Amino acid sequence: MKKFASISEVADYHGCTGCGACSYADSSVSMKDDHGNGLRPTSEGSSSSALAVCPGAELDRSSLIASDSDAEMDPMWGPVLAVYEGYASDNSVRSNGSSGGMITALSRYALESGAVEGVLHTVGSPADPSVTTPKLSRSTEEVLAASGSRYAVSSPLSGLAAALDQVDSLLFVGKPCDAAGLHKISQQDEIARNSIGLSLSFFCAGTPSTSGNKQYIENQLGGKPEPLHSLKYRGEGWPGLWEASGTVSGKQASATATYAESWGKLQASRQWRCYICPDHSGEYADIALGDAWYKTPDGVNPGSSLIVVRTERGKRFLESAVSAGVVTLVKEDRTLIDQCQSYLVDSRGELWGRLLAMKVAMLRTPVFKGYPTFRFWIKLNAKRKVGSVLGTLKRVFRKKLYANEVRLK
Ligand SMILES: Cc1cc2nc3c(=O)[nH]c(=O)nc-3n(C[C@H](O)[C@H](O)[C@H](O)COP(=O)(O)OP(=O)(O)OC[C@H]3O[C@@H](n4cnc5c(N)ncnc54)[C@H](O)[C@@H]3O)c2cc1C
Ligand code: SF4
Ligand code: SF4
Repeated sequence: MKKFASISEVADYHGCTGCGACSYADSSVSMKDDHGNGLRPTSEGSSSSALAVCPGAELDRSSLIASDSDAEMDPMWGPVLAVYEGYASDNSVRSNGSSGGMITALSRYALESGAVEGVLHTVGSPADPSVTTPKLSRSTEEVLAASGSRYAVSSPLSGLAAALDQVDSLLFVGKPCDAAGLHKISQQDEIARNSIGLSLSFFCAGTPSTSGNKQYIENQLGGKPEPLHSLKYRGEGWPGLWEASGTVSGKQASATATYAESWGKLQASRQWRCYICPDHSGEYADIALGDAWYKTPDGVNPGSSLIVVRTERGKRFLESAVSAGVVTLVKEDRTLIDQCQSYLVDSRGELWGRLLAMKVAMLRTPVFKGYPTFRFWIKLNAKRKVGSVLGTLKRVFRKKLYANEVRLK
């Protein structure tokens, strides 16, 4: 089996998630999206320190449950202490948020209660709403403005060093791979370990690429916007609409699409690493949030979140937020994850077939320790079993996975 030996190999050979952990470990590394596939490190930096924190190269579940924790290691969903359905008690936070506004409500509470001095998360760039950028928020207004999912590449850990220059304590919000990168950083770096008050993640089926997003915007607006005025992916209802507006050929243009329509198109442009992701559920965070998809959006339901508490620290924080009245829990039920996220179980099954095909094609593959895959693959129907292997072999050629994605500049 060929492993990744440096972050340049991770980036060149389709293993990079774009998290930005390497840029924290080595300040000579920065992140750029030159080719439209995703944010990638611009230099190799000091290969060993950057590689040591890279979730694209290796993920290891063994360090995930502390010895004093009651959490159980679920083979599919990782460490689980408790599972709830809930939502932000403030109606506007709930409505503006993606599912139940839980991430925004917990971030706001952490800041307003003085538990942390800042929140490191991601927002649309004021200069270009199609660009997603890390943001250190230090006021309630800033936290509220970051609400809502952006189905786009992001690199929140590339903002970690600058954030820790400004504050001593942080709440971090990121994709599962970002939370994994932060976990790896914290294992090595005392400053980061002592400064992260809480880490929140969300269920993640993958990040559509920048070029995929741009193409979709152009198709919807009927041409290239110059400039793009606004872009939102969902929220203001559950799941809410994709909406964009801009100036196209000198005229104002705007468009909307349902969540199902927009995600249906955008997801096709996900970076390859998302197809072989073993952690779609934020296993390395204190709390992971997702959509309570076991309910069907009907235009009336204001939305609620699936809440997976993974650590004792996360449990204490959630209990405190409930006592303060900022979030409301509807029910506790461990079966909710399977009810809400069953499609991710098939995705784990396909992982075994996909990795097998990559090895047959002599491609470099990430090392995933402690993630059962075969037992989920064997449960797939025959079509998906075969498809996971043969489909990947086809993709090796169609997506040119054997070729260098982009030369580091
Ligand atoms: C790319 C992506 C894929 C997702 N896939 C799934 C899925 O398959 N199943 C599922 O149940 N849920 C998925 N989600 C999560 C879901 O959309 C909600 O984020 C989650 O339910 C939490 O909702 P909320 O209302 O509590 O969040 P909110 O209160 O709206 O807060 C959202 C937070 O997420 C941060 N954020 C937004 N976009 C990004 C990004 N691209 N990278 C890093 N941070 C970001 C914001 O900064 C904000 O802090 C996905 C989200 C994203 C961004
Ligand atoms: S996965 Fe993260 S740490 Fe690894 S190369 Fe990509 S950006 Fe850097
Ligand atoms: S699917 Fe996995 S690799 Fe892709 S963005 Fe989500 S957590 Fe990261």
